[in-house]
Amino acid sequence: MKAWLSYGFNDMRLEEVPMPHAEPGWVVCKVRNLELSVTEIAEFRGLPVPSHENIKRMLAERAPMPLWGHEFCGEVVEVGAGVTNVKLGDRVFYHRGVPCGTCKYCSAGLPDLCRSVINVSEDTPGCLAEYFPIPASTIAAIPAEISDIEACGMQPLVSVMGRIEGVGIEMGDTVVVMGQGPMGLFCTQIAAVAGAAKVVAVARRDPVLELSKKLGATHTINVTRTDPVEAVMEITKGLGCDVVLECAGGSKEQGHAGIDTFVQGLAMLRNEGRISEFGHLPVGSTVPIGPIDKKGLHVIGTRSPSPRIINYAIDLVASKRVQIEPTVTHVLKGIEKVPEAIEITGNKAKFGAIGPAQVVLV
Ligand SMILES: [Zn+2]
Repeated sequence: MKAWLSYGFNDMRLEEVPMPHAEPGWVVCKVRNLELSVTEIAEFRGLPVPSHENIKRMLAERAPMPLWGHEFCGEVVEVGAGVTNVKLGDRVFYHRGVPCGTCKYCSAGLPDLCRSVINVSEDTPGCLAEYFPIPASTIAAIPAEISDIEACGMQPLVSVMGRIEGVGIEMGDTVVVMGQGPMGLFCTQIAAVAGAAKVVAVARRDPVLELSKKLGATHTINVTRTDPVEAVMEITKGLGCDVVLECAGGSKEQGHAGIDTFVQGLAMLRNEGRISEFGHLPVGSTVPIGPIDKKGLHVIGTRSPSPRIINYAIDLVASKRVQIEPTVTHVLKGIEKVPEAIEITGNKAKFGAIGPAQVVLV
């Protein structure tokens, strides 16, 4: 069978490798669909994302190695001893890594707070292969109502939802979503189903904002024409919004907004408003403490999706209350198309893409 092996930054090769087998507690998945996230592509290219040093160390110690690929639709083709949550033939997606089981949080029964998680596609092989092994506790089966294409986008969706659970959206809130890439479009939809009265979508491209409206945004702001802080102040009659979900920030080298949109988010929040950063800001990014202190703002960081949230995400997609397919604009056929997918996902504006390019293997 074929798998992409990483030899170093910007050096991935498709090779013939032995078929994997399922150890106890693991399964083997046949890959039906896969996509690479923008963060993985930044890692592949050696850009200074937070995980860069860790990736550099792994490549130095273990290359050539199967690296990257945690967004997929897999079909379970072999089940190891003791696995009960999935069975042969199930279509599955990855939701979160394996908590270490030994740190003070895991010992206290709070595995969601563990920060020593074993991550699939880094600590274990990823899905850039025809078949790959994966710990069964990191995957969930999907019902027939969810397509392969949607299944492939379930991991970023549950990741977004875990963090939004930490932020908390209350009935009647005004929620501003900065950026309408796939993360932003998921945030827009979740804010709408979670009870926000106003969902304000902010982006640079009109066609994307039209999609935001279809998916639940009550207001849209095109930042190439309108100052988003002024517009939000107008919408909230000078009070400021309750919640900012910041999905535009990140490395300017990859076309993201740096910290600019996060700083705008701080400016548009009401007193004691909540903000969370969904992008990956470059290492060493600094944000001003002034507005956080003066307005008593809450800055909420990452949180693993709980089992409750994972099941909720499956229900939302199966019932079409949250839509993944409109974010998938580019679908390629065949495992050899992975480099092309990297090219498209790494430069979405050039290719007119919204979500990552998907590669279909079956
Ligand atoms: Zn732990």
